Amino acid sequence: MKAQPQASHFIDGEYVEDTDGTVIESIYPATGEVIARLHAATPQIIEKAIASAKRAQKEWASWSPAARGRVLKKAAEIMRERNRELSELETLDTGKPIQETIVADPSSGADSFEFFGGIIATAMNGSQIPLGGDWAYTKRVPLGVVVGIGAWNYPQQIACWKGAPALAAGNAMVFKPSEVTPLGALKIAEILIEAGAPKGVYNVIQGDRETGPLLVSHPDVAKVSLTGSVPTGRKVAGAAASQLKHVTMELGGKSPLVVFDDADVDSAISGAMLGNFYSTGQVCSNGTRVFVHKAIKETFLTRLKARTEAIVIGDPQDEATQMGPMVSLAQREKVLSYIDKGKAEGATLVTGGGIPNSVTGEGFYIQPTVFADVTDDMTIAREEIFGPVMCVLDFEDEAEVIERANATEFGLSAGVFTADFSRAHRVVDQLEAGTLWINTYNLCPVEIPFGGSKQSGFGRENSAAALEHYSELKTVYVGMGKCEAPY
Ligand code: NAD
Repeated sequence: MKAQPQASHFIDGEYVEDTDGTVIESIYPATGEVIARLHAATPQIIEKAIASAKRAQKEWASWSPAARGRVLKKAAEIMRERNRELSELETLDTGKPIQETIVADPSSGADSFEFFGGIIATAMNGSQIPLGGDWAYTKRVPLGVVVGIGAWNYPQQIACWKGAPALAAGNAMVFKPSEVTPLGALKIAEILIEAGAPKGVYNVIQGDRETGPLLVSHPDVAKVSLTGSVPTGRKVAGAAASQLKHVTMELGGKSPLVVFDDADVDSAISGAMLGNFYSTGQVCSNGTRVFVHKAIKETFLTRLKARTEAIVIGDPQDEATQMGPMVSLAQREKVLSYIDKGKAEGATLVTGGGIPNSVTGEGFYIQPTVFADVTDDMTIAREEIFGPVMCVLDFEDEAEVIERANATEFGLSAGVFTADFSRAHRVVDQLEAGTLWINTYNLCPVEIPFGGSKQSGFGRENSAAALEHYSELKTVYVGMGKCEAPY
């Protein structure tokens, strides 16, 4: 099989198999072909992974932050050297075109290792607090064993965005990739060993929604960082809360992208296309509710339709391909059913809406789709579709659009296109979201915090802020005189 790894799990520095686990088939989305067969972790595998992480964490945390940073920077270097190989694997895992994976997936994982490897030498510093004669100091300390659970849309990036800050802060990680994309994270674990990380500091085990809860509820786990849907987030946060564990929740969205009538229309269309069609629309922060001012609606839709119909859909391994298939047959079915709902509820189909004729075979392809005349109450405007379906809604007034943009349980991201900078800042100030963009969309370099508000989650990934979610403060009061007591 094309992408069969040495074994299903990577624990304590080596590949491990337990064929008693349920079979997980890795399917190449462009052809429907099984490219690898793995096994979900059995309880024995889970115990082995957590015990290994627990043991390794003690040693790893005793290293100086600068020494840990050197390992992470080395891992970044190896990832960059192997960017093509890792990108090809990511394309097999997800069906995303090589044109994207080569610039966006392992490279953003490498950025994360490089960034946290660089800042960690000083980022764990505490403070000294004078108290008259006595004094106190704080230390920033790791949490211990951290579980990472990934979604299928950015498997390598998620494995790194969780692993890099967790390891930098001195934790050990057990990472479970999505059962839909099991391959990439194993390579990250291999690379960390090659970069000099002690065995057990970063373990990968396979599994599905049956396996996840066993990790979350394990008594030796101090924190869970999940990237997934809101319903999964509620379950995982609930289970973690019952044992008072730390959590980071990177969940779904239905983000607004507001285009005012003074915006550069072509630039706004680029933003809307990036925020709806990149990775075949399977991006959590996508601006799927595109509010366009009525005065520019016709121009916007005419140019958007032409540009959308020119997207090159096809074989993800062909460098010219701009859009690959969806990740799975089930995800395509789900998206097609939303498209049917959009039609049934009266939205105007501008383009797309089905399976493209241009590609043959068993791949899970779908047309990039644009609906216009979408109203706030339609299902396609309320629920996360997680596919290449853009909803265009009309508006006329700034206060009205802010209210409508915020009328959602989600709060992951938002965007504004306008030439008026006072308005841009005034509007983003009122939009309820964790990450916002002005005159661009979906750019997430490692230097900036990323994460959601409202039902889209809490905690932040990337930037120095992520370290606060993988460590805690220890306060030490130093008595300098005799200890006095009233009795
Ligand atoms: P999902 O919620 O179905 O699964 C996510 C992960 O959770 C998988 O690894 C799954 O096996 C595991 N899981 C499922 N049930 C579990 C349980 N009860 N306990 C522990 N683990 C469990 O999500 P998905 O379909 O893989 O991914 C798509 C979703 O992820 C979308 O909603 C998308 O918006 C979201 N997402 C969010 C971000 C972000 O950073 N905010 C990034 C990417 C994707």
